[in-house]
Amino acid sequence: MPNMLIDGAFVGSSGGELFAVHNPASEELLDHVPRATVEDARRAVAAANTAFKQWRKTSAHEKAELLHEIAHKMRAHTDDLAMLMTLEGGKPLLENRDEIGWCAACFDYYAELQRNTRGRVIPSVEPSQLAMVLKEPYGVVACIVPWNYPLLLMSWKVAPALAAGNAVVLKPSEMTPLSSLRFAEICCDHLPPGVLNMLTGFGDVGRELVVSPATHLIAFTGSFETGREIARLAAERVKKTHLELGGKDAFIVAEDADLDVAVPGVAWAALLNAGQVCTSTERVYVQQSIAKEFTERLVAFVATLRLGPGIEPSTDIGPLVGARYRDKVENQVEEARAKGARILTGGKRPPQFERGYFYEPTVLTGVDHSYRLMREETFGPTIPIMSYDSFDEAIALANDCDYGLGANLYTNDPKKVKQYYEEVKAGTCWVNDPLTDNDAGPFGGMKFSGGARELGEEGLEEFLETKHVHWDFEMAKKSWWYPYA
Ligand code: NAD
Repeated sequence: MPNMLIDGAFVGSSGGELFAVHNPASEELLDHVPRATVEDARRAVAAANTAFKQWRKTSAHEKAELLHEIAHKMRAHTDDLAMLMTLEGGKPLLENRDEIGWCAACFDYYAELQRNTRGRVIPSVEPSQLAMVLKEPYGVVACIVPWNYPLLLMSWKVAPALAAGNAVVLKPSEMTPLSSLRFAEICCDHLPPGVLNMLTGFGDVGRELVVSPATHLIAFTGSFETGREIARLAAERVKKTHLELGGKDAFIVAEDADLDVAVPGVAWAALLNAGQVCTSTERVYVQQSIAKEFTERLVAFVATLRLGPGIEPSTDIGPLVGARYRDKVENQVEEARAKGARILTGGKRPPQFERGYFYEPTVLTGVDHSYRLMREETFGPTIPIMSYDSFDEAIALANDCDYGLGANLYTNDPKKVKQYYEEVKAGTCWVNDPLTDNDAGPFGGMKFSGGARELGEEGLEEFLETKHVHWDFEMAKKSWWYPYA
């Protein structure tokens, strides 16, 4: 049984409690891990505060070396990390192997970017003065993350937070603690004790990290509902939050789109990780003139995809991560069916699997924005399609949503591309290349998706505070009380 990481040591829960981790493809028990208590959270926060005093003074050169070492070690452990992620999270093994590569790339990116962290000297009020704008770490950052890309979402926070000179207390999702603890083991070999701590547990531990007077920034990725609760608790304490929340991304397909590309592209954007991606396409708007052909071809393509456990190389789509996540998808589809939606493929649990939280990839038409399936985050393998006449209408439909994380468009018409990226309210606008990440490209949302940015220079900025230093080095020349006399 793996243990939690507090102050450089792997320890059990102070309450002695454990919780079980299951395989979502088979519902079998995988292992038990410690269930952290509020007391454990306090110990981890105290250790991080102590470690921060030294870590903040670590040179950029040394931090770069340590972060590169972590990247290197993650690559060397691709096999075991990816296997744990597949067993506990359900995502196909090949996708998880890719995820480890992106994690390592993120550590390498911030290892180098932090070498350029700089403030600036600004014009001073008098010649005897030096006025500077400096960047400094917050102190202890609580990083709270979900399960769908467990190690990537950790890396997007931990790498820039450490690079900026903060100490970290990390709370992974209760659904994916095994790969997270393995990640902690890898990082811990390269960091001083207490600089990175990891607590496996539930919302009570996350809440303690938010309300603790000894954490200084809350970096959260997860659902809108949890994010709003964290924002409320943090606001009462005037604590800075960095919120990466849910999405309901639109995909617009214009009539000039090449359907050989657009059909698999839309399926990929909607069904990757069984639709459990924060930037999953959850609404498709197709121009009327091509809607029939696009839909028929999409249904035929989706019917060829193979469901199965993520450890099998033939699997295209794995299970959903848990029963309550499958229930949510099922409820939204059933509501749509009852209101008159046409289910063209899928719309049920696959009969060939007796166990596991599988749901068939589902294509629907005959929906509108009054359906929960078109308004609320689904986080499952559904592709609801609506048609539009004018491009203005497509943009209005895309924007008629509480969320604003990502958006996609297929077209070769530059006028449409410009109108789309100028008018769509989304943190990332992809054109003809869905869901592609770029370490240098800031990622985050607008509206209910939260306003934080990860990756890129902005992703480092989020973990740095700004300080203005005003220094008069001829103190004796001036008496301040009372300058107006
Ligand atoms: P969740 O909000 O249920 O849980 C996320 C984390 O918060 C977990 O570690 C959980 O234990 C913790 N938590 C729960 N209650 C808490 C509380 N009261 N205080 C502090 N922490 C608490 O989300 P989830 O189901 O694990 O993840 C799915 C959600 O994450 C989806 O909505 C998805 O869109 C979103 N997500 C967003 C991004 C992004 O970058 N915007 C990326 C991935 C996932």
